[in-house]
Amino acid sequence: MKLTALLAALVMAGSASAAAPLAGTNAPGFHRVMLGDFEVTAISDGTVDLPFDKLLHQSADVTKKALARNYQSVPTEASVNAFLVNTGGKLILVDTGAGGLFGPTLGKLLANIKASGYQPEQIDEIYLTHLHPDHVGGLATNSQLVFPNAIVRADQRDTDFWLSQANLDKAPADSKGFFQGAIASLSPYAAAQHLKPFKGDTELAPGVHSTSSYGHTPGHTIYTFESKGKKLVLVGDLIHVAAVQLEHPEVTIGFDSDAKSAAGARAKVFQAVAREGALVGAAHLSFPGLGHLRVDGKGYDWLPVTYSQLR
Ligand SMILES: [Zn+2]
Repeated sequence: MKLTALLAALVMAGSASAAAPLAGTNAPGFHRVMLGDFEVTAISDGTVDLPFDKLLHQSADVTKKALARNYQSVPTEASVNAFLVNTGGKLILVDTGAGGLFGPTLGKLLANIKASGYQPEQIDEIYLTHLHPDHVGGLATNSQLVFPNAIVRADQRDTDFWLSQANLDKAPADSKGFFQGAIASLSPYAAAQHLKPFKGDTELAPGVHSTSSYGHTPGHTIYTFESKGKKLVLVGDLIHVAAVQLEHPEVTIGFDSDAKSAAGARAKVFQAVAREGALVGAAHLSFPGLGHLRVDGKGYDWLPVTYSQLR
């Protein structure tokens, strides 16, 4: 056989076996790290495309340029993360994803909790950073408790605000859904005496406390976990867009109830966690949303956690 004919035969043989379809899915959405004796599992609820050029309180052009420098564009695929912490004494879930409230690309929390090795019945307590739909939607399905044994905790400022029928009635049409989502998600827990709001900074369990960081919502709260000298701060929605708000923490977003307070809360918490070297977990930074903040000029660098086999 001539060389050209041999090559042609090889190419044909190669093409006949190169037809595997694309797999099209990613790894199960959980990522685990240790914090002293506590086991921390970031749980993905999925991702959602958001128009940050329209949502952030700065010119669309400036946002698009910042995203482009970070190899991102608009709309931007944003993560929705929750965190499951096993303290040895309690299994605690912080935030619950969107359930069915925010479109078909979210609502994967329950499947990913199971993939991570836990069952919803095992969860003892649920701490909510705030009552927006992408944080409470996973609590209930058709008015049934998804976490039947869990006590739900949140700052009373948020439960008073979002669970109020009067506030729902007077809300503009385009924001009524936020109130309806919170009411639908939390009412089953209230009816079962499983909703226990707290007021401001509170010790919730050994090594676990809440700290008020009001602004994004009236009762937005961060949660700190401490074990063997290690500290994790779950900052909820203190940041939405790493490509913009790390370099410019002063930039706020349309979802904020009180943008000025939200920016103040971000500045205060970011300074503290960077100074202390605390591990940070964020609801909307790229999954798993776990890493450290390091001061860089007037802003911050984000250092994602490194992978560990937990040996
Ligand atoms: Zn959120």
